[in-house]
Amino acid sequence: MRSLVSKYLARHAYRTARIKGSTPVATYRQPRHRLSSSSSSSSFHDLFNPTQEHAQLRAMLRDFVQNEVEPQAMEFNRTETFNLPLMKQLGDLGLLGLTVPEEYGGSGMMGDATSVVMVHEELSASDPAFCLSYLAHSLLLTHNLSTNGSETQKLAYLPRACSGEIIGGMAMSEPGAGTDVLGMTTKAVVLQHQDAMNHQNSWTLSGRKMWITNGTIDNGQTTGDLFLVYARTGPERQDLTAFLVEKDMPGFELGQQIKDKLGMRASPTAELVLDNVSVPPQNVVGEINGATLCMMRNLEVERLGLAAMALGIARRSINVMKEYASQRQAFGSDLYKFGQVQQMITTSYAEYMAGRCYVYALANRLDLETYGNGLDADGTKLYCAQMAKTVADRSIQVLGGYGYVGDYAVERLWRDAKLLEIGGGTNESHHKNMARDLKAMPHEIE
Ligand SMILES: Cc1cc2nc3c(=O)[nH]c(=O)nc-3n(C[C@H](O)[C@H](O)[C@H](O)COP(=O)(O)OP(=O)(O)OC[C@H]3O[C@@H](n4cnc5c(N)ncnc54)[C@H](O)[C@@H]3O)c2cc1C
Repeated sequence: MRSLVSKYLARHAYRTARIKGSTPVATYRQPRHRLSSSSSSSSFHDLFNPTQEHAQLRAMLRDFVQNEVEPQAMEFNRTETFNLPLMKQLGDLGLLGLTVPEEYGGSGMMGDATSVVMVHEELSASDPAFCLSYLAHSLLLTHNLSTNGSETQKLAYLPRACSGEIIGGMAMSEPGAGTDVLGMTTKAVVLQHQDAMNHQNSWTLSGRKMWITNGTIDNGQTTGDLFLVYARTGPERQDLTAFLVEKDMPGFELGQQIKDKLGMRASPTAELVLDNVSVPPQNVVGEINGATLCMMRNLEVERLGLAAMALGIARRSINVMKEYASQRQAFGSDLYKFGQVQQMITTSYAEYMAGRCYVYALANRLDLETYGNGLDADGTKLYCAQMAKTVADRSIQVLGGYGYVGDYAVERLWRDAKLLEIGGGTNESHHKNMARDLKAMPHEIE
């Protein structure tokens, strides 16, 4: 992680010189600025920044977000435009391949869920839509491939995915199958002829994938660069296989860019069409009919990332309402003096801290390389998504008419928060999974 922070300091010497003066990297101190939480209690310090390196990573992220992400957020969301150059900057910083081993171009923080949570929390405090595209590329494609891919696949794709040379995502959902993901109908069948090089069977993929983040990254002209696509390869519901599908494969087309979304408008969403796409055997990820497990593993990581995004939304919303209530005058005093306003701010803070503790407690003990943390991955997202939407809603309420328009960002955060109750699993799917897991628990809840 030290090299990641050093890279940033080297690239941004003009600014970091101002922030850190002559302080060496090892003692780099967190700058204070508007998006930061005031970080109240040192007793929580270890949970949220368990090592000095984590604290440095957070400081770097806050600086980057303040200077690079925040200035573009309103405009790119208003115009529903994906900021590809900014995404590539995350590659330069080593954030696109955060959990990927260094030999494949990553930053080598393989099992470190806490760092993953931090990046999503900090990016989302400014621009949740940009963060959603980051999540789709870095966790759903890159981390997924790093965990489940072969050596050849990792060498072929990960360096470019980590640098940002190629940007893509993961295609699981379909027009007719979302929550019921094992009901997908996209099929992969074995081609009769043999692949010339490997003397193995090639595959042909047919079907449609819906709601795919980064499905297009050039404003609806073409597809994104690379996707991990799940397809049916056997008669049983769980007979799914994962394939790497590349932009220029014949028959792989952009169906439509899905415009006019409620929120997450700077994150491109698309329908992707697979019309007899021929995929070579070396692009099969993992075992044939064995992709359900890698899908479920990756969903755990995704849910933690989405829960962290909710934290960013909530923190920003609380900061906005706190600051606004302190300044806005009504009935001869500032709004902060009114008990009902205090209730909205304080309840929001308590709920945010509860969610934050849940997310970091899980992240601190989670090894991203392992599987079996579904109950709390679902639980953190279930709680934090609803918490973030409620907190953003209260923030709009405290700001009155000013909260209802774009200038203070909270109406955008409220719209973005709604996606967290749907994407990566709906609230209802979390209820269903958690009820199953709690019932199967062999002991009492500790
Ligand atoms: C902006 C955005 C980005 C996305 N990005 C991606 C992506 O990158 N890759 C990808 O593969 N997918 C992506 N998705 C798809 C997302 O994962 C699905 O939308 C989600 O899983 C819900 O599926 P659905 O929309 O088909 O709704 P449905 O599954 O049809 O659900 C509709 C409603 O029925 C409820 N419901 C369904 N089954 C049950 C049940 N058994 N019990 C109770 N209630 C039930 C649901 O909870 C929901 O309220 C994205 C979606 C959006 C909106």
